[in-house]
Amino acid sequence: MKTYSIATIPGDGIGKEVVPAGQQVLEALAASSNRFGFAFENFDWGGDYYRAHGVMMPADGLDALRGKDAILFGSAGDPAIPDHITLWGLRLKICQGFDQYANVRPTRILPGIDGPLKRCKSEDLNWVIVRENSEGEYSGVGGRVHQGHPIEAATDVTMMTRVGVERIMRFAFKLAQSRPRKLLTVVTKSNAQRHAMVMWDEIALQVSKEFPDVTWDKEIVDACTARMVNRPATLDTLVATNLHADILSDLAAALAGSLGIAPTGNIDPEHRYPSMFEPIHGSAFDIMGKGLANPVGTFWSVVMMLEHLGELDAAKRLMQAIESVTANPALHTGDLGGKATTAQVTQAVCQQLAGNT
Ligand code: ATP
Ligand code: MG
Repeated sequence: MKTYSIATIPGDGIGKEVVPAGQQVLEALAASSNRFGFAFENFDWGGDYYRAHGVMMPADGLDALRGKDAILFGSAGDPAIPDHITLWGLRLKICQGFDQYANVRPTRILPGIDGPLKRCKSEDLNWVIVRENSEGEYSGVGGRVHQGHPIEAATDVTMMTRVGVERIMRFAFKLAQSRPRKLLTVVTKSNAQRHAMVMWDEIALQVSKEFPDVTWDKEIVDACTARMVNRPATLDTLVATNLHADILSDLAAALAGSLGIAPTGNIDPEHRYPSMFEPIHGSAFDIMGKGLANPVGTFWSVVMMLEHLGELDAAKRLMQAIESVTANPALHTGDLGGKATTAQVTQAVCQQLAGNT
C-alpha cells in the first residue's frame, strides 16, 4: 500500500476551517481504499506565526516541505498585516522555492449551482486557465526611490524569459491536447506592450508547431473578459501571464457561481518538488470561525492533488461526490444562498465516499 506524505498549511482565516475539512475527505478516501493512505504533517505558518516570530514561515520551512508528495494550502492573509508581506512571505515563497511554474485553475458550473450567466448552460462553461506562476508582472524586480519626496518613483518590471514562456506554453498546449476539444486560447496584450508580450506571442506560435492537433487562437486580455461573459462556449483551455490570469481567474470563479468553489494547483510539472493545491478564495475574516466557509473549493483542489499524484480513480470518485453534494440545495453554504455549514458539507461528501448516501 502506498502512503503519500501530505503537508497541510491552513494559514489564516477560513483556511483553518477548510484545510482540516480537506484532510477529512482525504482520510475518507483512504478508508475506502486498500491501495493508498496518507500521512499528514501540519504547519502552523501564517499571520499568527508572524506575530510570534516576525516571519510568516521559518527560514528552513522549504526544507521541511521538500520531501512531501504534495501540499494542501488554505489561505494567507490577515487584516493586521500588509498583503504583500503575507503573500510574499508564505505562498509565493513556496511557489517560487519549488518552481511551481504552472498555476492551473479549472472552472465549471457544478450541478445545482446557479451562475450569474443565466443564459449559459453548464456544458457551455468548462475552462481551464493556465497561469504563468513564476515571473512576468510579479517577478519582484523593481524598486522605489526618493520615498516621500515629490520626485518619488517606483517600478515593477515585467520580466519574461524565453525558458519561462516556452515551458508554460508547452504545458498549456499539452493540457489542451489532453482535453476533448483540443482548443487553446493564448491571452495576450501585445498590441500595447511591445516587448515582453510580443515575445510571448512569438513563442506561442513556435510551440504551437509541436502540437498540430491543437486548435489555437490569440485573444487580447480585455477582449477576453468580454468573451468569457458573452461567448463562454468558444473557450476551453486558456494560457495567460501571471497578472492577466490572476484577473481572468477571479472573473471565471465568479461566473461559475462563487469564489468558494474554485480550486487551483501550483504545479511543478516535472515533479522535482512537491506541488501545492489550494482554494482560490482568501482568508475571508468576515466569516471565519463560524463554520460557514464553503469547503468545496478545497475539495476540488484535493481532486487536482489526487490527479497530480496519479490517483485518477480516487480523483474521479471525489469529484462525483462533490457534484452530488452541490446538486442538493440543502447542502449549499451561505455564499451559494444556502444555510449549510462547513461540517455538514464535509460530512455529506465523506458519506458519499463511503457509499453511504
Ligand atoms: P484575502 O485578503 O485573504 O484575499 P478576503 O477577505 O479578501 O481575504 P476572499 O476570500 O478573497 O476574502 O473573499 C471575499 C469574500 O467572499 C469573503 O469576504 C467572503 O465573504 C466570501 N468568501 C470567500 N471564500 C468563501 C468561502 N469558501 N465560503 C464562503 N464565502 C466565501
Ligand atoms: Mg481577497
